[in-house]
Amino acid sequence: MLRKLLSALLVVLLALLGVSAYFTFFGKRNAAPERTAEPEVTAVPEEPAPTPTPEPTIDPALFTDTNSLLIVANKKHKLPDGYVPADLVTPDIAQTAACTMRAPAAEAIAEMSRAAAEDGVYLKISSAYRGEDYQRTLYNGYSASYGSETADTISSRPGYSDHQTGLAADFVEGDGSLDGTNFNPSFEETASGNWLREHAHEYGFIMRYPKDKQEITGYAYEPWHFRYIGVDYATAIYEKDVFYTFEEFFGVEGGDYAD
Ligand SMILES: [Zn+2]
Repeated sequence: MLRKLLSALLVVLLALLGVSAYFTFFGKRNAAPERTAEPEVTAVPEEPAPTPTPEPTIDPALFTDTNSLLIVANKKHKLPDGYVPADLVTPDIAQTAACTMRAPAAEAIAEMSRAAAEDGVYLKISSAYRGEDYQRTLYNGYSASYGSETADTISSRPGYSDHQTGLAADFVEGDGSLDGTNFNPSFEETASGNWLREHAHEYGFIMRYPKDKQEITGYAYEPWHFRYIGVDYATAIYEKDVFYTFEEFFGVEGGDYAD
């Protein structure tokens, strides 16, 4: 009996095997033709490794071209004799004395003044463009009073002043009186001083004579003196450091007079 059962099972198994073999073998032939192989994916070239952003390579002519916003006036770079910017206008900002600036700087300082006012800070300037003759009078006055060595620390020689570019301005707090924080390092603590340090770059201005950079710029800390160079460069300098200098950023020689 058991043997019969086993034989029957064997027959069934064999039959099943046969059927499955049939379908395996012939089924394929009847099945839909296999899809042709996917076209080979063309290899995507590997992304090139990102190259580091190069330090700005600036045409050095921009530091001496008087039309350039990067024109340099420091104790190593004298402006052309008798240089007077051709596009001086009166900027729309509060002033303690009539000021003029080159048109692009004037436009930017007006915009900056409006933005500061929205923050409750009322910017005011006391001096912007200064002609070579005026600078000569100023410097000679200091020189007569204190001697040329001291005069060099508080005033530029004619032809070397950032103010002569028409792109710089001195800010004052309040009525501009000289008995407080104006023209003093403590200007940094005033509402204007604080606002300018943090926001001037957004309008294209940099603090031209930052703290502890006298050996580089040639001047002691002047938290009130700002210079227009355009938003992109001003922002790039600010992002290096709030007290980074023009000279460091562009690799321009600064420091004291050569003689
Ligand atoms: Zn100044």
